[in-house]
Amino acid sequence: MKRWNGWGDDTFTYPLPQSAAAFLQEAIGPATPPRDATLSEAVDTVPASRLPAHALVDTDATGRIAHARGQSLPDWIALRSGRIPTFPDGVAYPATGEQVRKLLSYAGQVDARLIPYGGGSSVVGHVNVLPGDAPVLTVDLTRMNRLLALDEVSHVATFGAGVYGPDLEAQLRARNFTLGHFPQSFEFSTLGGWIVTRSNGQQSLGYGRIEAMFAGGRLESPAGTLVLPPFPASAAGPDLREVLLGSEGRLGILTEATVRIRPVAACEEFRAVFFPDFERGQAAVREMMQARLPLSMLRLSTPAETETTLAMAGHEQAIAWLKGLLRLRRIGDQRCMLILGITGSDASVLFGRDEALAAAREHGGVHTGQIFGNEWRKNRFRSPYLRNSLWEAGYALDTLETATAWSNVSDLLQAIEQALHRGLQDVGERVLVFSHLSHTYPWGTNIYTTYLYRIPANGPKATFGQWDAAETLRRWQVLKTAASEAIVAGGGTITHQHGIGTDHLPYLSPEKGALGLAALGDLCERFDPYGIMNPGKLVLRDARTRR
Ligand SMILES: Cc1cc2nc3c(=O)[nH]c(=O)nc-3n(C[C@H](O)[C@H](O)[C@H](O)COP(=O)(O)OP(=O)(O)OC[C@H]3O[C@@H](n4cnc5c(N)ncnc54)[C@H](O)[C@@H]3O)c2cc1C
Repeated sequence: MKRWNGWGDDTFTYPLPQSAAAFLQEAIGPATPPRDATLSEAVDTVPASRLPAHALVDTDATGRIAHARGQSLPDWIALRSGRIPTFPDGVAYPATGEQVRKLLSYAGQVDARLIPYGGGSSVVGHVNVLPGDAPVLTVDLTRMNRLLALDEVSHVATFGAGVYGPDLEAQLRARNFTLGHFPQSFEFSTLGGWIVTRSNGQQSLGYGRIEAMFAGGRLESPAGTLVLPPFPASAAGPDLREVLLGSEGRLGILTEATVRIRPVAACEEFRAVFFPDFERGQAAVREMMQARLPLSMLRLSTPAETETTLAMAGHEQAIAWLKGLLRLRRIGDQRCMLILGITGSDASVLFGRDEALAAAREHGGVHTGQIFGNEWRKNRFRSPYLRNSLWEAGYALDTLETATAWSNVSDLLQAIEQALHRGLQDVGERVLVFSHLSHTYPWGTNIYTTYLYRIPANGPKATFGQWDAAETLRRWQVLKTAASEAIVAGGGTITHQHGIGTDHLPYLSPEKGALGLAALGDLCERFDPYGIMNPGKLVLRDARTRR
């Protein structure tokens, strides 16, 4: 079953290796495991529902808790402290587009707000209920999970938009096709969620971003139904798919989506290369991108991330052996690991591998074969479970991301990391910070940064357990603000893949401008005249008064 207050399936755990615990103690100090609120403690805090009864609406407290928050660090702090400020008043689980339309008209009649909910894996507050007088109905779309049509000739498939990643891939692979969209949240995120947040899969280099996969679909909105035919291409004015991509539930509910698929590749491999330093690694990756090599993934870690990854891996002897071997090749403490994915026909994989490894060699890279690549592949969807174990050991973890031009990568990365390093100096706390570049383009790249700090124990405002939820949240706010300001000032986008939600909303205007924001607001109003769809996310616009 899905865990109610953390990541993933609650029957699976990814324990922290001993080497990792020692590494963290050294890096930011020993921590105290917090006591989390239990589900029954949280259930006791759920208020009565404000929604009138409806056959499709469930007002059970457990379901309302399960849909109260997403997966951001503030969400975790709320859930694990048992101090969840707001809940949906009910949850609906429609199985058809017709039921979705009934829910929209019910929401209109009772003046409720609607929050579409896919996997709830948002890390920026997309699915959270904001305080307000109107009742809130969360619409969980995961029953709309079937493959509705597959055109094997044209390589397009239509799914119910609530299909989870593994279910979508299983239905395609049964016919020897794949979508190729593998965000790290793959296990518990949905096709509809990917589209409306502009999500990015780990192998977007080979398969493309979700924008390139989304061919058309069906949106049920308060103003009516929008059907987008899946043409291969069209010059019929502005592309309305672009309107849905990134719409974050503000325009309506995507019930069906047609996606561009491809046959499962004959060959795929993941390899590791170590560089003497980050600048040389970056130059090699840039060169591979600008040569348009047929690769499916490039993930280059900074020295700090490389060190952390090796410490977290837990195989101490093998890692010591590797470090010794790299030293012999003049790769020391500034070493940076690149994981290289190559996917395609036997011939294209051979070509991509040879060309990429040659480019890496030119920049001092040492190829270490497939062991680290296979380890990465094995853990690609398991590593988020480490976040549960880190929390349980007393460490809070958050990630943030941006994208910028190649010429600006080093400066921006340094500015973000410095902002985070300095963030908790006022309380004398160290912050562990590390980054990687994982979605690369010929003209630039994303920067993905992870940071950890100790969960403050026994603070004056300690809640259910022996940890101080308010102070944990305050520290997150300080760090998030410092990093976001560094991103905006340093010429990066506020988000390359996580979207806006509530957490990035204050930083959207430098990117869109006043006219752009007003146009987005107008668009929301066209689809949703009374502002019932996921208000307070993406763009701020007060609901119009009902006539
Ligand atoms: C551990 C972890 C790893 C992650 N890794 C990645 C990654 O590699 N790449 C990446 O891009 N993101 C990643 N994310 C972020 C998140 O998974 C993505 O934003 C994802 O696209 C959200 O999908 P979801 O189905 O969970 O949507 P939700 O979280 O349920 O919803 C997100 C937004 O979409 C809206 N929505 C959902 N479904 C619909 C629908 N059918 N119609 C209309 N609106 C809808 C919601 O109202 C909300 O505004 C990660 C998150 C976690 C927790």
